[in-house]
Amino acid sequence: MGKIKDIKFIMKEYQYEKPFHIANSISAGSKNLEVQVFLENGVVGYGEAAPSYRVNGERVETFLSLQPFVKEQLVGIDIRNYRRIFDIMDKLRCASSVKAAVQFAALDAFSEEIGAQVYQLLGGAKDEIETDKTIGIDSVENMAKEAELLFKSGFKSIKIKVGEELKKDIRVMEAIHEVSKGAKYIVDANTGYTPKEAITFAREIYARGIDINVYEQPVQAQNIEGLKLVRYNSPFPVAADESARTRYDVLRLIKEDAVDFVNIKLMKSGISDALAIVEMANTAKIQLMIGCMSESSVGINQSVQFALGTGAFAFHDLDSHLMLLEDKFRGKFLQDGPKIKAK
Ligand SMILES: [Mg+2]
Repeated sequence: MGKIKDIKFIMKEYQYEKPFHIANSISAGSKNLEVQVFLENGVVGYGEAAPSYRVNGERVETFLSLQPFVKEQLVGIDIRNYRRIFDIMDKLRCASSVKAAVQFAALDAFSEEIGAQVYQLLGGAKDEIETDKTIGIDSVENMAKEAELLFKSGFKSIKIKVGEELKKDIRVMEAIHEVSKGAKYIVDANTGYTPKEAITFAREIYARGIDINVYEQPVQAQNIEGLKLVRYNSPFPVAADESARTRYDVLRLIKEDAVDFVNIKLMKSGISDALAIVEMANTAKIQLMIGCMSESSVGINQSVQFALGTGAFAFHDLDSHLMLLEDKFRGKFLQDGPKIKAK
């Protein structure tokens, strides 16, 4: 029988290959939580929470204290009734990344039990996706050098972090474009600009003949009016990331006509809200990308399975496991440069 017998929370620490610099934040590594769901029949499901204080207000130190509560709530539930697990975890609003990890670990255990992959439980829409790779904030020269290497090694989509210095950011885009013509660009300001700066940046880039495929979170998370202002005064599609954590955030963004794109991250939304956002976005004709926090291959596997299963995403920014140092690759997928394939 596939009833839940035990749930374990295990702390893990990962270092970045090199410190990862985004607007107003530098990380050397990440303390993540691995969640293991044990069934009575010996099957184990794996999930991972990569917390973000900046985006979700989470502190990893609080996670272990949630383990007895989660265990008490979930032990005895038949894994086939996984929606019941989703509903219980939806109420744990203090820890969205833990919600994601537990919900995914439940799906992972169920998929093992029935001999399918999680992406198939979620619909099996695609066999293959392609990820971008992210260039953190650095000198103009170093960012251009990295873009050139990435483009030559086969990454056709490049994500570029900006948002600290408007004038330098424009020079960065010029230098990167010079060495990667034909690449698609996702430009992420991580809330760093004022609306005025965000519009200036977009117009300056457009005037130089450079195209941006997704212009991510140019302004503060709470500034929905600002997002809308940028959307209507910029030639590039504007995406919400920090502004779009839950299904309710996305409902508001759609109602207010504030964005062209939403960046879904399981660490913000869990599986349940992410599924709701996919349906809302499809209905409202908003485009979707999927991103990550600081997940290892265990956590990136969650987003890979979600993206393959729903087939919902125009862009995939699933590269944190390529930037973190890990002893062993543990994803249930195949990685070949930017290509990610179902196993
Ligand atoms: Mg972002």
